Amino acid sequence: MLFDQALAGNGAFAGRIGLVIVIILAFRTLSLLFGILFGTIIAKLAAKVAFDLKAAVFTSLQRLSLDFFMRRQTGQLMTRVNNDAQELQYFFVDGLSYFIVNAMNIIGIIAVLLWMDWRLTLICLLPMPLVFWLVRTAFPKLWRLSWRRHRKVSALNSIISDSVRGSRVVKAFGKEQVEIGRFQQANDAFSGAEQRFNKWSGTVFPILNFLTQAGGILIWAFGGWYVMQGRMSFGSVLTFVNYMMMLYGPIQFMNNIIGWWSNCMAAAQRIFEIQDAVPSVAERPGAVSLVTMKGDIEIDNVSFGYEPNKPILKQVSLRARPGQMIGVVGHSGAGKSTLVNLVSRLYDVTAGEIRIDGVNVKELSVASLRRHIGIVSQDIYVFTGTIAENIAYADPDCQMEDILHAAKIANAHDFIQKLPDGYDTEIGSGGYSLSGGEKQRLSIARAVLHNPKVLILDEATASLDTETELQIQEALDSLVKGRTTIAIAHRLSTLRQADYLVVMDKGAVVEAGTHDQLMAREGIYRELVRKHDEALKMKGEIIA
Ligand code: ADP
Repeated sequence: MLFDQALAGNGAFAGRIGLVIVIILAFRTLSLLFGILFGTIIAKLAAKVAFDLKAAVFTSLQRLSLDFFMRRQTGQLMTRVNNDAQELQYFFVDGLSYFIVNAMNIIGIIAVLLWMDWRLTLICLLPMPLVFWLVRTAFPKLWRLSWRRHRKVSALNSIISDSVRGSRVVKAFGKEQVEIGRFQQANDAFSGAEQRFNKWSGTVFPILNFLTQAGGILIWAFGGWYVMQGRMSFGSVLTFVNYMMMLYGPIQFMNNIIGWWSNCMAAAQRIFEIQDAVPSVAERPGAVSLVTMKGDIEIDNVSFGYEPNKPILKQVSLRARPGQMIGVVGHSGAGKSTLVNLVSRLYDVTAGEIRIDGVNVKELSVASLRRHIGIVSQDIYVFTGTIAENIAYADPDCQMEDILHAAKIANAHDFIQKLPDGYDTEIGSGGYSLSGGEKQRLSIARAVLHNPKVLILDEATASLDTETELQIQEALDSLVKGRTTIAIAHRLSTLRQADYLVVMDKGAVVEAGTHDQLMAREGIYRELVRKHDEALKMKGEIIA
């Protein structure tokens, strides 16, 4: 219109350039306003979608049982919650909306072009079959290269996370150079994969660009010829070419979205794997909820294996009556921890039954089971937060007095008071570091506050100095009072107040009885005690 009707001086808009410009401006402004509206809606939507996705993945993750976490790398699971959710959001919010916009653009523009001159349109679409052929042949190769790059970058990440988390071991063995070497190897592999990918995409995309733009060149040729013949006005040819140019962006986008799509599908697959995973330990519908628990534990002919056909426990039976303390002893790897994991139903038995107060644990609601069972285990996890928050983990709404009371019983009050900020001292990653003995007392305080009816003690193997050991022993003595306790102890002295002891070997109970009864027999227990005493004596001699 600007050329043919305003500038040429004989059309409807002759001499009214100002008006044409105003109309153009008005359309541009309208388009700008829509752009801003679209931007604000998308901004909100994108954040909301990412928020929902992360929440969904994290919630599904929490629902899963321990074995799921044991079989996977921490870093990999973290990526799934964060990056993969982001990846999906990019595609479905940004990608999909632009896909619709661009698809409409392509259809609209081609329709306008056909309407303006179908012959010219067909000419400018002439290179299209070639473009499709190239996309079909070159893109699968590009995807493969992109996947390989993805795998290499994952490998690189896991080396970084390994050496950061294992920095203590790396330093202790002076293996910095080895780590650098390992990193460089992975870095090299990634760099190679990246180069190959970029080389291919650097070849394919310019050719694609050339082919799409070749259409434009053909238009100039044929359009120019039309103008000279007087079959078409110069303005129409310009408009035509401009519309053609507007096609490039959307077509380019369509090329890119194929890559996005494959990334998004891979991320979705990883997320669905979490969402679709069935927790191996699930609550039955209509599970029984116990308001109070007496703490009568019966382990009845229980067999169990972490993997099929690899039995770890074989027909184990034992009974702990309310308030009793049972000691479980045996060599390392005998299956003691496995047995107590079954009582708190971190795993489910393969055969046999575990009953608490006469009810099969599989019939109990998970909440009531966890409410009444407390575990003080070897791996003490300190969450990021204050000491008080860590102690109050079981009941964040409890009073400060309860926390103080628990800390005092656990013999932790004294050391906590000496910390820079007392109970408000930040611990966990990046915070104040507690010693092994301090962490143990913290975990005992956690259990005191939880106040469970059934207590499981899975004692740390790490040996502590005599003073700390005494303090921990005292704390444990107060903790077990009034509760049914199953205790695994490496320091056999811990078990002096046990009502009876169970000796395990290779996943089976081989001896049971009181300390005196077992000592009277020439069995495994007596041998364990003898070795234990010898070790203590040696330790004493070394210290002396
Ligand atoms: P203990 O507590 O007596 O030292 P455990 O119960 O920890 O013995 O281990 C018993 C056996 O079970 C060991 O052979 C160990 O390798 C195996 N085991 C322990 N945990 C797992 C697991 N999560 N997955 C597979 N095997 C395991």
